[in-house]
Amino acid sequence: MSTNPRARAWIELDPGALLENYDRLARGAGRARMIPMVKANAYGLGVADAVRRLEPRDPMAFGVATVEEGIGLRELGVRRPVIVFSPTPPGSVRDAVARDLRLCIGSLEAARRVADAAAAFDRTAGVHVEVDTGMGRSGVDWRDAGPWLRTFTGLLGPRVRWEGCFTHLHSADGERESVELQWTRFQEALGSSVPPGEVVRHVLNSSGVLRTPEYAADAVRPGIFLYGGSAGPDLPPPRPVLALRARVVHVKDALEGSTSGYGATYRAGTRERWATLAIGYGDGLPRALGNRGHALVRGVRVPVVGRVSMDVSVVNITGVDGVGVGDVATLVGRDGGEEITIEDVAAVADTISYEVMTGLSARLPRVWSDVDGA
Ligand SMILES: *Cc1c(COP(=O)(O)O)cnc(C)c1O
Repeated sequence: MSTNPRARAWIELDPGALLENYDRLARGAGRARMIPMVKANAYGLGVADAVRRLEPRDPMAFGVATVEEGIGLRELGVRRPVIVFSPTPPGSVRDAVARDLRLCIGSLEAARRVADAAAAFDRTAGVHVEVDTGMGRSGVDWRDAGPWLRTFTGLLGPRVRWEGCFTHLHSADGERESVELQWTRFQEALGSSVPPGEVVRHVLNSSGVLRTPEYAADAVRPGIFLYGGSAGPDLPPPRPVLALRARVVHVKDALEGSTSGYGATYRAGTRERWATLAIGYGDGLPRALGNRGHALVRGVRVPVVGRVSMDVSVVNITGVDGVGVGDVATLVGRDGGEEITIEDVAAVADTISYEVMTGLSARLPRVWSDVDGA
C-alpha cells in the first residue's frame, strides 16, 4: 500500500460523530446500560479504532457475533465483558470460555457444552439466555421458556454464571404492535424464573432505543445508529460518521459513440466528459450503482456511467468545470452543498445501509480525522 492512505480511495471517519451518536442512544436508554454492537469490524468502520474511542464511555459490555471477533477484542486488550451473540458452533466453545467471552445460549446442549468447557478449564463462564419471541433464528421458543429455564437453572452448577437474558426484535423499525407483542412474549417467558436485578435483561437495538425506549429494560444493544446509519426514516438522523472518497485518476473527452465499461452498457451521446474514479466493487462500492448511482465531484452530483468495475468506476462530468486528475470524488458524504447518504447508496443498490457498510472492503484505508487530520 502507498504510505499515503488518501492516495486512491479511502473511508474518512469522524470520532466526534461516533461519540455523539453514542451519547444520544445512551440518553434515550435512560437508566439502561449500553452494550455497543461492534460485530463485523464495527459495521465495517474498523473495530480497533471504534472500541478505543468507545472505551472511555464505560459501556457495560461489547457485543460481537463470533468467537473470533471476541478473541480479537481480547487481543486488543479489552478487559470488560464481551458477549458473542450468534449461536456458537460447538468447536468454538472452549476457545470462548478460555478467553472469558460470554456466550448466548438457546439450547440445553449449548448450556452443557459451556459447563463442560468451564469444568475443563476450571473457571467460571458467564452466559446470556436468548428467548426467541419471533425472530426464529436462534434462542429458546418463548412458549417453552418456563420449563426450559427451570431445567437450565438446574444444570448451571458452580461454574456457569447466568448473567443475562434477551430477545431480539424483528421489526423494531416497523409497527409498534409487533414490538409490544415481542415484549409481552419476553415477559411471559421470563415469568418468575428470572430473578430481577441478578440477570441483566436486554431487548432493544438502535431503532428500539429511539422508538420504544420504554422497553429498554436493563441494557440496550445499539449498532447501526452509532456508526451513522439511520435507525428509520421517521427518526432524527444520526450524525454521519463515515465518508467514502476516491481520487479522479483519468479524465477524457468522450466522443459521440464512446462506450463505458464492461458490456459497453453506456454510450456517449453528443460530446461528453468522463472522469475515472479509483474505486470499484473490489472496494465494496456496490456494483448495482452502475448506470444508476452518483458521485459528488467539485460539489456537483454526477452520474455513474457504465458498469462499476472491480477497481474503478466512470462518472459523467460533462458541464462540471475544472475537474482534473487528483481531484477527490465523494461516493458517500458531503461535498459543498451536496450530500450522498449511506441510505441513498443502499436504496440504489436495493439493499440496506448495514450491507453497504459491512461490504466496504479491507482495501480501503480507514482514516480517522483526529489521527490523520482528514
Ligand atoms: C446486530 C445486532 C444488534 C444491533 O442492531 P442495530 O439495528 O444495528 O442497532 C442488536 N442485537 C443483536 C442480537 C444483533 O445481532
